[in-house]
Amino acid sequence: MQNFIGGEWQDAESGAWYERENPARTRDIIGRAPLSDARDVDRAVAAAKAAYPAWRAMSAPARGAILHRAADCLAAKGPDLAVLMARETGKPIVEAEAEAVRAADILRFFAAEAERSFGEVYEGRDAQALLYTRRTPLGVVGIISPWNFPLAIPAWKIAPSLVFGNTVVFKPSREAAHTAGAFVACLAEAGLPPGVLNLVVGGGETIGQAIAAHPDVVAVSFTGSNAVGSTLAQTLTARGAKIQLELGGKNPAVVLADADLDLATELIVLGAVQNAGQRCTATSRVIVERDVYEPLRERLLERFSEITVGDPLDRGTLVGPLVSAQRLKAVLGMMARGEAEGAKRLYGGERLSGPGGEDGYFVRPALFDAVSPESVLAQEEIFGPVLSIIPVRDFEEGIAVANGVRYGLSAAVFTNRLDRALAFAERIDAGVVRINGQTAGVEPHVPFGGMKASSSYSREQGRAAIEFFTQTKTVTIRPPSVS
Ligand code: NAD
Repeated sequence: MQNFIGGEWQDAESGAWYERENPARTRDIIGRAPLSDARDVDRAVAAAKAAYPAWRAMSAPARGAILHRAADCLAAKGPDLAVLMARETGKPIVEAEAEAVRAADILRFFAAEAERSFGEVYEGRDAQALLYTRRTPLGVVGIISPWNFPLAIPAWKIAPSLVFGNTVVFKPSREAAHTAGAFVACLAEAGLPPGVLNLVVGGGETIGQAIAAHPDVVAVSFTGSNAVGSTLAQTLTARGAKIQLELGGKNPAVVLADADLDLATELIVLGAVQNAGQRCTATSRVIVERDVYEPLRERLLERFSEITVGDPLDRGTLVGPLVSAQRLKAVLGMMARGEAEGAKRLYGGERLSGPGGEDGYFVRPALFDAVSPESVLAQEEIFGPVLSIIPVRDFEEGIAVANGVRYGLSAAVFTNRLDRALAFAERIDAGVVRINGQTAGVEPHVPFGGMKASSSYSREQGRAAIEFFTQTKTVTIRPPSVS
């Protein structure tokens, strides 16, 4: 694959490239991708800057029409894109297909934003004057995305950037560059003018920092880890750029004594292990009232033993590999630290070989018991298929433990009591709350984002996207003839 700059597919200025391997079969090479540097970023930003005046001058419905056509392209290519995504990132094919459908839905939602309001009209102190606000674009926007939702996250950042009149420099993750390239190709085929969307591929430190430091990039929307997010924030805030950070999670499912335990078991396990636990909204802590601790633990153990781990292209696979050797090492290391701190491993956690005994970054989903709320397993984002059980005395202690982490992305409670459900929704520190539902899963048309260290107090998706990708102008028009 190549970079896409100024409407042309091209190699990196350096001529350097890297190979991306299939994380389920490391000898299966997906392809090679450019290792770009600041020179490529400079060219991409220049192309985006040159394209901006004409793009913002185009009517919003005309911009939306291009997104509609891109959605059609994504829908038509969905099955092929899903296979590419599964091979490149290890996401099981059923989940990858659902993500391709979702990416098309996201483009359609934002295409329709072109036909919704871009401002408001007010009654002013002056009865003769027309007083209104107008949402205007920002300029050249940088988009930096992770690999775990390689179509959906670029879609929910790039589509609003474009429909509201911005031009874009997009840096996907190295582990998902081919999928990102296929996404950009759909937008290009849909008729996006040259320079409106530019793709630059390569190392995060090199390109991500070059985008953040570039004086012509007025805003950056980033989804990824807290460590990278805080580095970016320093660079961006120091030069006064607008910044949106969507970061990690340590999401709890609180199970109360009156809960439907079968429902809780199924949704907690899926929340913990789908996409091998590599979701920011993955369930990673089960906080359970003591009265139902034993029966829930037994159910979880039984359900864990039924999980199918294997080739992401196999429709029967629930859990595929981790995305990289680096992630595998990190997940194995965190489990070892958890055990050293006294957590009891009830199930799984061992490294597995790939399909047919080939090399792959597989780990058997792990269930830990007797996890202390202060331990690494209960505090740090693991980003792997690892679930920790934390027993608590009662609802009050459950809320305290659930809130006792630095993150606040998503949370679930399982209960049949309305008073408890309402109290949980009110008191939990989380941007996404589910009553009798999975912590994971995001609807395309509603605001999404976290509290505390999980976000920069911003929200993505749905109508909330207009907040980040536009700025407001307040206009008063007074007829000259009125004295
Ligand atoms: P990451 O932070 O390693 O990388 C994210 C992006 O930043 C990639 O494109 C990467 O190349 C780039 N990058 C890396 N180093 C950089 C640097 N020094 N400067 C600028 N850019 C740099 O994250 P990841 O491993 O790709 O994704 C996993 C993380 O993303 C998890 O923490 C997860 O919780 C988070 N995530 C959050 C959400 C959300 O909406 N809150 C959604 C998905 C993933």
